[in-house]
Formats: sequence, C-alpha cells, structure tokens
Amino acid sequence: GHPRPPAEPLTPHDVFIAVKTTKKFHRARLDLLLETWISRHKEMTYIFTDGEDEALARRTGNVVNTNCSAAHSRQALSCKMAVEYDRFVESGRKWFCHVDDDNYVNVRALLKLLASYPHTQDIYLGKPSLDRPIQATERVSESRVRPVHFWFATGGAGFCISRGLGLKMSPWASGGHFMSTAERIRLPDDCTIGYIVEALLGVPLIRSGLFHSHLENLQQVPTSELHEQVTLSYGMFENKRNAVHIKGPFSVEADPSRWGN
Ligand code: UDP
Ligand code: MN
Repeated sequence: GHPRPPAEPLTPHDVFIAVKTTKKFHRARLDLLLETWISRHKEMTYIFTDGEDEALARRTGNVVNTNCSAAHSRQALSCKMAVEYDRFVESGRKWFCHVDDDNYVNVRALLKLLASYPHTQDIYLGKPSLDRPIQATERVSESRVRPVHFWFATGGAGFCISRGLGLKMSPWASGGHFMSTAERIRLPDDCTIGYIVEALLGVPLIRSGLFHSHLENLQQVPTSELHEQVTLSYGMFENKRNAVHIKGPFSVEADPSRWGN
C-alpha cells in the first residue's frame, strides 16, 4: 500500500522488543540472533527465558529469567507472556513488540511502521495465521460458558501493541491476571492477547503483510522486498525446510536461516 507519513519520530528507546526463548534454544537459536539483528539493537531487546545462562548474560544485557516452567505447555508460555507484558509496562516505552527466537527483526522497518501510528491510541499490529477468526469457548463463571470469536496475530510472526492499548489491557494482563485470562479460553498466549484486545476491549487487529512466520512459505517473499519486511523467520513448513530466498556468499548448509547473507 501507500506509505503513511510518520505520526511521530521514534528512537530505539521507544520500543520494547521481547524475545521469547527457552534454555535448550540458547545455543541453537539465540546465538544466531545475537550474531545478527540483536547485536545492533541491544538497548531495545529483552530476552525472556526460563533458565540461568552465564554465557548468555555475558554477551548481552536485558536477559530476564522468568522462572516459568521450561515445558512447552500453554501455562508455561502464558507465564512468559505475562512477564513480558509486566516488564514492558514497567519500562515506560511507547511500543511493545513480541517475537519468537526464530524471528529476524528488521529494526529499521519496524521503527518506520510504528512511527506511522500514534502510540497513545489503541494499536494492535500483526498478521493472523488463520483465514477466519478463531472460535473459542469463554468460561464466564463456574458453570457457564459462551462462544467467542476473534482475530489474533500469530506470535511466531511477531506483533506489536501501543502503550495506549497496553495500559487498557492491564485488568486482564498484569500481575497474575494474564494466566487466569488464558485459562478462561484455554488457548495459547498469542490467542489470549487477541482475546483481550479484540473480544474484551473491542479493538480490531490491524493486519500487516510485513510480519512473517515459518508457517507461511518464505520463498514467496520477493527478494527485492526483503529489506522492507519487519520480521522474517526460518524453520519447517509442510515438512520442508523453509527460509527466505537470498543468494549470498554462504551456502544453505552454512547458513540455513539465510540471515547471515
Ligand atoms: N518455546 C518455549 N518453551 C518451550 C518450547 C518453545 O518458550 O518449551 C518458545 C521458543 O523458544 C519459541 C516459541 O516458543 O520462541 C515457539 O517455539 P518453536 O519455534 O519451537 O515452535 P513453533 O510454534 O514455531 O512450531
Ligand atoms: Mn517457530
């Protein structure tokens, strides 16, 4: 679409980027992030993990041990999102962005996108992974349930929330509330964010085609437009290796993510 004029100039200190990881991925995934995009954006980036790692702490600041369980359970992932949210609120920054540890963040493109929206208004930016709203069952009391449907931005592509909206989410997201909200619909952390924003606050998700997870075919992002994308990823899709298409000096074996190119 047409580029929007910046609503406000942004500096790196205005944005809080939360990277979700787990101890077993510190070497396998985080090292690559530290060697690529995080190395130039340490002041914006906060790493949320579940185990102590002195080698990691020596390489970068802002490592948060959430003390959440290292399991891949809904509860453990919601526990991490809850800590990410609380740290963002504490930070006083204008924007909260969440990414996974298999995301590349193009910070220049991210700042440009965010600068075109006012952080004081209700902004929820990202890309859905489904082609229709998710159907859920909301537990309204001990004995009553009701159906709800809402859109959510897939966590694996990254999403951003303005401070204005973030503060309104507080009754359902702050302290221990995020985990009990997640239990009300029994869905993962990124769905719970969509539930709070769309279903409870009535704020619609703003879709952006600039966020990419490995649940889409990354070969389809045109090479000439790669530098405009806000997030990229790598991994598996339909049982095949999935990565963006870049012919660089490094082979696919040496650099399967293609980010080193
Ligand atoms: N993750 C986690 N705890 C786990 C497993 C995964 O915090 O026990 C994080 C992982 O570091 C990543 C995200 O959850 O940031 C998604 O994990 P993964 O990419 O392995 O799975 P996907 O959902 O993309 O298939
Ligand atoms: Mn992933």
